[in-house]
Amino acid sequence: MINEMLSPANGAPLAQVPLMVFVFKVTERCNLVCPYCYFFFSEDQTHRDHPAIVPMGTVEGMLRFIHDAIERHGVKTVQICFHGGEPLLLKKAYFERVCNTLINELGDRCELRLTVQTNGVLIDREWVELLAKFSFSVGMSFDGDAEAHNRTRINRKGRGTYAESERGWRMLLDAAHAGRMPVPGVLCVVAPGQSGRQMFRHFIDNLNVRNIDFLLPDVTHNSLSATRKFVEQCGDYLIEVCEEWFSRADPGLRVRFIRDITKPLLARLDESIPAVLHPEVRLFTVSSNGDLGPDDSYRPLAMRFRDTGYNIARHRYADLQTSEFYQEMMQATTALPDACDGCVWRGICRGGEKKHRFSIRNGFENRSVYCSALYRLHSYICARLVQGGIPAERLDQRLQYLAEMKSSASMHHPAAAP
Ligand code: SF4
Repeated sequence: MINEMLSPANGAPLAQVPLMVFVFKVTERCNLVCPYCYFFFSEDQTHRDHPAIVPMGTVEGMLRFIHDAIERHGVKTVQICFHGGEPLLLKKAYFERVCNTLINELGDRCELRLTVQTNGVLIDREWVELLAKFSFSVGMSFDGDAEAHNRTRINRKGRGTYAESERGWRMLLDAAHAGRMPVPGVLCVVAPGQSGRQMFRHFIDNLNVRNIDFLLPDVTHNSLSATRKFVEQCGDYLIEVCEEWFSRADPGLRVRFIRDITKPLLARLDESIPAVLHPEVRLFTVSSNGDLGPDDSYRPLAMRFRDTGYNIARHRYADLQTSEFYQEMMQATTALPDACDGCVWRGICRGGEKKHRFSIRNGFENRSVYCSALYRLHSYICARLVQGGIPAERLDQRLQYLAEMKSSASMHHPAAAP
C-alpha cells in the first residue's frame, strides 16, 4: 500500500490530479501562414522534424500514459484538444479512427472531453457531421471583423480567409442550434491599435458569438515588439471589451478573461483559487512524435520547454513530476514574483500569465510585461463591480485574502515557494 503511494522516481507522494488536459498535435502543418504564429514562425522549428500527421503509435502511447494516470493519480476527467497546425488537415476517415480509438479505450474509464481548435477554413458538411458525432467543443480562431481578420489570417497565396472561416462558423452554429453539438466558441488574439469595442460588437452582433476569449499576444520581457505603446494599446483593447460587456448586462455572454477576474472576486470571502491550492501541472502538449512538454505556447520561450527529453512512449506522469520544466511551472504557479509585492491586484492577477512574465535572465521571476495594462484592467473591472452594487469593503477583503493565500503545495512540495 505504502509502495503504491510513493513515486518510484523520487519518493514524493503521487499527486492526485482530477483533471488532465492534453494539447494534442494531431497535425504539425497548416493551411494558413498567420505571421504571429508561435508554432511555425518563432525560433522553435522543431515541428520540421515531427510527422506532419500524428501516427497511430503516438495515439496508443497517449492511451498508455492516460491509463497509468487514471490508475495512479486518480484522474477522473481527461480533456484532449485536437490542435495543430490545423487539425482539420487530417483525412476525415483517419480523424474518425483516432476518435473511435480514444473513445473505445477511455470512454468508460474517465469523463472524456474532446475539443478542437481550428481556423475553420476547411469546415464542410462532413466535418460538421463528424464533430457532432463525437460531441466536440469547437474553438474557432478569429482575429476580429473581416478587415482585421484578413490582415493576419492569410493563406499561402497571401489572401485573407475571413469568408471561409465565417462560412464554417455558421455551419457549426446551425448544428449547435439544432442541438447536435455544443455551441462553438471564439478565440481572438488582441491586435494593439484596433478597437476592442468594434471587434467585440462584430463577434456578438454579426457572428452571434456567446462564448469568447481574447488572448494577449505572446511577448516576453525579451521581445523587442513589447514597447510601452504596444502594452498600453493592448490594455485599451481589453478595457473596451469590458466596457461593452458590462454595458450589455447579458449573463449568458461569456468572456473568459473577464470571468477569470470576476469569479474569484465574487466568490465567498474565504474561498480558495483551485489553481493555487492544487497547482499540479496538468496540461501537457503531446507532439505528433509523442514528445511531451508544457502548454505549447511556452515552446518559443526557451529550449528547455520544447525539448524536454520526455516522450509519451517512455514516460509516465510520475516521471514528469521530477522534470525541470514541471518543477519550474510549479514554482511559477505557486510563487508570485517579488516584483508584485505590495500590488493591490496580486491575488487575482498573480503576476499575469506565466509566459508574459518570462525573461531569459530571470525565468518567470518578473511581473508581467503587460503589468501596466493589467493594473488598469483590474482597476476598471473592480470599479465597475462597485458601480454595480458590490461593496468596496468586500472587494478589499477578498483581494486581501487572495493576496495572502498560500498554496498547499508550497508547504510540502520541494520545488514550491517557501
Ligand atoms: S498588476 Fe502588475 S504588479 Fe500587480 S500583480 Fe499584476 S503583474 Fe504584478
